[in-house]
Amino acid sequence: MATDMPLVRPISVLAVYGTRPEAIKMAPLVRALRADPRFTADVVVTGQHGEMLDGVNRLFGIEPDVNLRIHSPGQTLTDITTRTLARLGEVLAERRPDAVLVQGDTSTTFVAALAATYAGIPVIHAEAGLRTGELLNPFPEEANRRLTTRLSSLHLTPTATARDNLLREGVEARDIVVTGNSVIDALLQTLDTAPRLDPALEARLSEGRPFVLVTAHRRESWGEPLRRIGRAIARLAELFPDHYLVCPLHANPLVRASIEPAVAGHDNVVLTAPQPYPQFCALLSRCRLVLTDSGGVQEEAPALGKPVLVMRDTTERPEAVAAGTAVLIGTQENAIVDAVSRLLTAEGGGAETRPINPYGDGHAAERTVQAIARHFGLDDHVDEFAA
Ligand code: UDP
Repeated sequence: MATDMPLVRPISVLAVYGTRPEAIKMAPLVRALRADPRFTADVVVTGQHGEMLDGVNRLFGIEPDVNLRIHSPGQTLTDITTRTLARLGEVLAERRPDAVLVQGDTSTTFVAALAATYAGIPVIHAEAGLRTGELLNPFPEEANRRLTTRLSSLHLTPTATARDNLLREGVEARDIVVTGNSVIDALLQTLDTAPRLDPALEARLSEGRPFVLVTAHRRESWGEPLRRIGRAIARLAELFPDHYLVCPLHANPLVRASIEPAVAGHDNVVLTAPQPYPQFCALLSRCRLVLTDSGGVQEEAPALGKPVLVMRDTTERPEAVAAGTAVLIGTQENAIVDAVSRLLTAEGGGAETRPINPYGDGHAAERTVQAIARHFGLDDHVDEFAA
């Protein structure tokens, strides 16, 4: 029977992502959208990160609807970009979602936004508005972020600083919502399950010796900067024999090849495979301090009161630096050794700080759902995050 009633159907959101950090930050958003009857949320993964990505999806109970399987050994940025654009274009033509949701600043983020734009589908950008102000630093993330902003119609920013960056670039205030970063949702939900360390690692660390948690993987550090980081870890191992330096290495073989030779023979340096997210959260909550070049880890550590030394020259996450729990130290060997030594030896130094949450309070996913509902005229209210 014909009816004049408008067809009421849920808004279909297609989340597209490709790397471990995107998967961690997307999971709370996808789950919150799926829990709300006004939406459906399907997932397309590009497979850019292979097993590291699958592990996170399994953890959060997300079975991707489509895997573009773009991963190939030695893939270049051009490979990632062209394969994703071609394959995602076909998926979008077939599925015609009401919106494409992207997160952060990877090549997947930008290319998914471009494919959606070509298909005439609006783009929602989570973790929008981060900027270093230098187009090529970090590379290619800063370029990806700026390009994604230009293609997006709704911008979900983690902080007020990120919102202000977008306002300065001419994005309309009504298209921006400060939600907080969903990495804090993922972290708190995961810590609620009381995760334990990997048993082999637990056995290694069982004497209760304190440890420094180290992660390093950025593309701009490949080569000599990573070798310098390796040499600094080796010197720290000698200076602090009563500490472990625990380094879960990124799956990218270039990272292991740069660090492993420098630290060989140092028994208190523990190199491990990438840790599943719960085990990494357990490491984060047990470590004394964090030495990292990771974006996500910079956001998580302050929430657990852990001091962070950031092995980069710039950061798009200035909030923890301003709050005094993160320090930018660059990638020079002496600078790394000095900064860690200062924290480990100063009176009361390296002590945990009061946990602070400049990046989120664990409710970013709820706000994201509200913001998308308002964007589609299903709601008129959003509670924004204030640190
Ligand atoms: N992480 C993890 N296992 C590890 C190292 C990191 O699960 O062995 C998590 C970490 O908690 C954070 C995210 O991966 O949420 C950061 O990923 P990565 O450093 O690769 O990327 P970035 O955040 O710099 O984009």
